[in-house]
Amino acid sequence: MNDDTKTKPQLIAEITQLRHELAHVNLTKEEQSIELLKSEERFTLAMRGASDGLWDWDLSTDKVYYSPRWKSMLGYEEHELDRSLNTWASMVHTKDKDFVLTRVQDYLSNKADAFEVEMRMRHKNGSYLYIRSRAFKVLDETENTPIRLIGTHVDITKRKKTELFSARNTKILAMIAKGHPASKIYDEIAYMYEERHPGMRCCMLILEGDTLLYGGAPSLPKAYCEAIHGATIGPNVGSCGSASYTGERVLTEDIDTDPKWASVKHLALPHGMRSCWSEPVKNAAGKVLGAFGMYYDYPGLPNEEELNDLVSAVRLVSIIMDREQNLKRIKELAYTDELTGLSSRAQLYLSLEKRIKSAKESNEHFTLIYLDLDNFKNINDSLGHDAGDTLLQMIATRLINITSHTHTIARLGGDEFCIILDTQEQAKAGIIKFAHACLEGISQPVFLSSRRFIPTCSLGIAKYPTDGEDLPSLLKAADTALYAAKDRGKNVYAFYQVEYTQQAEYSFKVEQALREAIETETLSLEYQAQTSVETGKILGVEALARWFHPQLGHVPPTEFIPIAERIGMIRPLTQWVLKTACQQAVDWRRSGVQDLRMAVNISPSHFLESDFDQVIIETIKSTGIDVSKLTLEVTESAVQTNKANLSMFKKLKALGVMIAIDDFGTGYSSFASLKHLSIDVLKIDKYFVDDMVNDEKSTRLIKAMIEMGQKLGYEIVLEGVENDAQFAMLKQFGVNIIQGFLFSKPASAKEIDALLPRKVAL
Ligand code: C2E
Ligand code: CA
Ligand code: CA
Repeated sequence: MNDDTKTKPQLIAEITQLRHELAHVNLTKEEQSIELLKSEERFTLAMRGASDGLWDWDLSTDKVYYSPRWKSMLGYEEHELDRSLNTWASMVHTKDKDFVLTRVQDYLSNKADAFEVEMRMRHKNGSYLYIRSRAFKVLDETENTPIRLIGTHVDITKRKKTELFSARNTKILAMIAKGHPASKIYDEIAYMYEERHPGMRCCMLILEGDTLLYGGAPSLPKAYCEAIHGATIGPNVGSCGSASYTGERVLTEDIDTDPKWASVKHLALPHGMRSCWSEPVKNAAGKVLGAFGMYYDYPGLPNEEELNDLVSAVRLVSIIMDREQNLKRIKELAYTDELTGLSSRAQLYLSLEKRIKSAKESNEHFTLIYLDLDNFKNINDSLGHDAGDTLLQMIATRLINITSHTHTIARLGGDEFCIILDTQEQAKAGIIKFAHACLEGISQPVFLSSRRFIPTCSLGIAKYPTDGEDLPSLLKAADTALYAAKDRGKNVYAFYQVEYTQQAEYSFKVEQALREAIETETLSLEYQAQTSVETGKILGVEALARWFHPQLGHVPPTEFIPIAERIGMIRPLTQWVLKTACQQAVDWRRSGVQDLRMAVNISPSHFLESDFDQVIIETIKSTGIDVSKLTLEVTESAVQTNKANLSMFKKLKALGVMIAIDDFGTGYSSFASLKHLSIDVLKIDKYFVDDMVNDEKSTRLIKAMIEMGQKLGYEIVLEGVENDAQFAMLKQFGVNIIQGFLFSKPASAKEIDALLPRKVAL
């Protein structure tokens, strides 16, 4: 690859060789003189370019003379290669061939004054050389038609590579300056060194904690890159893993035998890699940021040039890795609140935008809460800013403990915090529970400068999408709500919409009170008679739960039963009702009331408890009620042919209790779903009774239901019978039992007691 190293004696030898060639060819005189002429021209050319290869193309025959130097430049011996144009054509880079031939044509057709090109040609060893080719044409006697083209080859690979290398280098620096993505720059760096050292493959890894992450290695197999991504560094983890760990250069001559590679060589060898030289990448302070690795597919150690390049590559890479670390740090600073480690205002806005977008797409709700400490200024003023900061940190920790990790918590500055709360189901209840958890969690005592404080806060609550559909309006709503809370005297929460706050407070109060009432068994029961149409005697009673609260007054069961279900108190409630009602039944029996049935309402949710039958078993045991006199009233929704429900039905039935379908005709079930169950009683809902006297359709409907139910063997109870007209009609239809205000309103056990039929003692 040396351009100007041919000595005079070598030149003379070349010309002698030419003459020698001539002497061996059997030529006519005329041909001989032409050849001689040719050789002289070659000689002239040879004199011009001392180390040049010569070529001489006969345009009429396409035979080409390639000089020994031409051949040796490309790695061939004198006797190798054909004297044909094809020889050249097969060696020139496919991407350069057309353009070179065009330039030849241009020159021969006088379109261009001279011929000079740079092209890539393949060396015998497979690598490509950059060749500069110059030529002049030889014309025939008429001086019009070119008959030969004679030219030189100069190997300009070294210069060209340096040029390309520095062009790449410049490009990389420009990319760094313009802030291109690191991954793109890493790839460029790899290409730059790989171009300079054919066969080399480069790899850049980033150190994060004690783990190496993929930076760039465009020429290494994807599978290998994936395998090393996330590797933990250590003294014996390949070349890069060890270099990052020790901070020292690691040169592995043979991956197959180097002990450092023993545990990881199975990742590299299948891909052909055999040697790896790695240099740790460090920042100005000497901290290891990653590693740069050079791989070859054969064992070996770097030469001086390669070693220099390893060092210069690392210098370049360190600029980018350093930049990336700083960017990350800046981002962290911008998106986290330094004092508390919570999200910053910027991060909150980003998260909110994202949440709004996803909520819009999937039609979801969520809640934004502003939280502001009460009288924080006093702490700052009296104890100083350090104590204030400490308090803010404590508050942040408390908030983290209160909220589950799926919620975003941010500090907006000062003593203002913001929480994005995801509440899908039972939205209001969830929000209130959370608001109370905040008020309670924050107001635990703290010690600041050895003084005891009870911090309190106020909360403003805004709901997406009702209170604001975009970021500014939602933030404003939460802020307005916060001011409303402060106005109301601090240590409270307020919804953006005033009525929400009232409702929310009411239902929270109700929940708390109900929980307490169930726990302390301060509910009561009323009983409503179920009267036989035939005899006019009371056959049974239905137990109905009642709740009186000193402040809330009488809360109807239609209100508190769903609350008990929601707050998970329905099971103790049912247990209490069962126990009390059954005990009452037993008491009545003991007092001489015979065969009285006791009906108890059972929430559908119990059918999903796999052990609900135990509650009944215990009640029977503890009260001694006659099982056949106990009726469980279940609404239609529990009758749905859900497998779990069915098995509970069967278990209960097996105990010997009666089952009544409550509110029949109002739910979604039908006679069809009853066929899977063994039911004893059908209670047709009051809804049908209300209209029957005036509306013929209702009358027919109720008649049909009664007939059908009776045909299926059910006892028919009609609920909500309030007047004689209804009663008369129902009696005509053959209804068995009536439950309604006409005969008895729900009343206390004592009041009912007087109505009960007793066997008269003889
Ligand atoms: P329900 O099981 O359908 O109970 C019948 C309801 O209709 C009772 O209302 C009763 O007072 C009312 N009623 C009966 N006859 C008449 C009438 O002629 N006219 C009018 N206007 N109303 C009549 P109450 O006591 O308010 O109970 C409402 C619902 O609360 C019950 O409906 C039942 O679903 C539920 N409930 C009551 N106690 C319990 C309980 O202990 N456990 C469960 N799970 N639910 C209960
Ligand atoms: Ca009922
Ligand atoms: Ca009912």
